[in-house]
Amino acid sequence: MDFYRDHYDVIVIGGALAGLSSALMLADKGLDVLVLERHNLPGGVSTSFVRGGIEIEAALHEMMSIGPRDARLKVGKFFDDMGVDIDWLKVPECYHASLPDLEVTLHPGFKTFAGEIESAVPGTYGKVMKLLELCHTVFDSVNELSVHPMSKVQMLLKHEAFVKTAGYSTKEVLDTFDLPQKALDLLAPYWIYVGSGFEELPFTIYAVLMADYVGYGSYIPRHFSHEMSLKMAERAEAMGVQIEYRQQVEKILVKDKKAYGVRTKRGDEIHSDYVICSAYPNKVYTSMIEPASEVPAAAFKMVNGRRLSLSAFSVILILDRPAEELNIRDYSIFRGDTMDTDVLYRDLAGLGPYRYLTCICHNYANPEATPPGTCSFSVTVLPQADAWKSVTADRYDEVKHRIARQVISDMSAYFGTDLLEHVLEAVIETPMTIARYTGAWNGCIYGYAHTMDDHIVARLQTAEEEKFIERLEFSGAHQISGDGMGPAVTNGRKAAKNVLDDIRKRKEAAAK
Ligand SMILES: Cc1cc2nc3c(=O)[nH]c(=O)nc-3n(C[C@H](O)[C@H](O)[C@H](O)COP(=O)(O)OP(=O)(O)OC[C@H]3O[C@@H](n4cnc5c(N)ncnc54)[C@H](O)[C@@H]3O)c2cc1C
Repeated sequence: MDFYRDHYDVIVIGGALAGLSSALMLADKGLDVLVLERHNLPGGVSTSFVRGGIEIEAALHEMMSIGPRDARLKVGKFFDDMGVDIDWLKVPECYHASLPDLEVTLHPGFKTFAGEIESAVPGTYGKVMKLLELCHTVFDSVNELSVHPMSKVQMLLKHEAFVKTAGYSTKEVLDTFDLPQKALDLLAPYWIYVGSGFEELPFTIYAVLMADYVGYGSYIPRHFSHEMSLKMAERAEAMGVQIEYRQQVEKILVKDKKAYGVRTKRGDEIHSDYVICSAYPNKVYTSMIEPASEVPAAAFKMVNGRRLSLSAFSVILILDRPAEELNIRDYSIFRGDTMDTDVLYRDLAGLGPYRYLTCICHNYANPEATPPGTCSFSVTVLPQADAWKSVTADRYDEVKHRIARQVISDMSAYFGTDLLEHVLEAVIETPMTIARYTGAWNGCIYGYAHTMDDHIVARLQTAEEEKFIERLEFSGAHQISGDGMGPAVTNGRKAAKNVLDDIRKRKEAAAK
């Protein structure tokens, strides 16, 4: 057992964005931290890989909450504060929306965005601006309340717009603006980044999404998303964190409803005061707690009561021409045969053909993303995590190639270019790839669905009740701030903050 110390303040399970954010924050406060990662590299889905000598982004389309160097938003500021120096590149546009009767490119900045909608749908500027301003007010409230919780009365006095809209769905609030359908369609494409149709999606989530992405634009690291995880791991080690790769945690050791360490697949038993876990609660409560009798029935009820959100199916192509020569003209294209988000959400329960495609050409933010004379182009659909459960091993290749052919052929028809004739490298990622690579439950990348019954405000209020095992914190897309790489960082920080608060409270109690 010399390899590990006798005892750590905190063991972090998972060395991806969430886990590494926890580790950085705790090491910054002087705690003794061990990170155990099952893969041989840090990052989870925040990674890249090499095919035919070309480095290829595995996942990231765009990061929210970064902001320019002189006006960082919370995730960008966290990286700066921790000394993790990422070479951020600004994504040029919000998106190109491609619908049967609309082809419009929208850029960040409220006035620009509303002005571009006005050009496509005259007479809407004032209402769109009002909506975006409401989104920003709610965004400010969420940011403040997540750091400074307050009573309901104080909230009502100080955060009226947030309180007034918190109980309504995105559809209900959008309807009050009385906008023409075309304008509503242009305000919808980002829905896929939070993975719920507007009838179900709490307005609070929509508001945060729009204020962040439209208000401030998005960013990618020059050296792919792996730049974030590699630099975070490097910095964490420089701060004294011990990171061990190829160490899968099989069990979280619990006694009297209190976590006290972990056991790895290799058989090492390692002790700590706290455990922070990136694995899904579904996995933890059903198979990782030792002894299993320490899991209360309420924990099973909680995971059974939550609906898993989306997984990902992605076809990533390296093409043998610069993007413009293939008629690929935008960084980001959202293409659908409708923009009815509830219809599109239901469509994601199946195995295709899919009706809503998210396409990215990284070269428009980073001309050096691929070698000169080539470009990268990916098409992603985000099926519901449970959709792929019916795919048996003998059908897997057929399903995967059928869907890949569908999405490539749809986009080839759109560009008027047969993309297949230009392929240098092609990679297909499915929910199974994600499950195998990161251990994510059913290959889910978005945690639990945002719904009107189960949303950030409700989750904040039930967080204490859902703490079934003392000294065990969760971090990852399945936690309060939800899905995405930026929120994964925020969730990791929140888990670390919970540990730090608990230590402080115990010290205060001991001093009394
Ligand atoms: C194709 C695709 C595109 C995406 N695009 C975007 C985007 O544009 N913008 C965005 O913000 N987000 C995007 N995401 C989503 C985002 O990547 C995730 O929500 C986020 O990265 C989740 O981070 P995480 O740290 O929670 O989890 P993960 O990255 O899944 O990491 C979990 C880590 O824990 C490790 N682990 C799990 N169990 C154990 C164990 N028992 N022992 C040891 N280690 C363990 C895993 O190996 C992994 O490293 C995309 C995802 C995909 C797949």
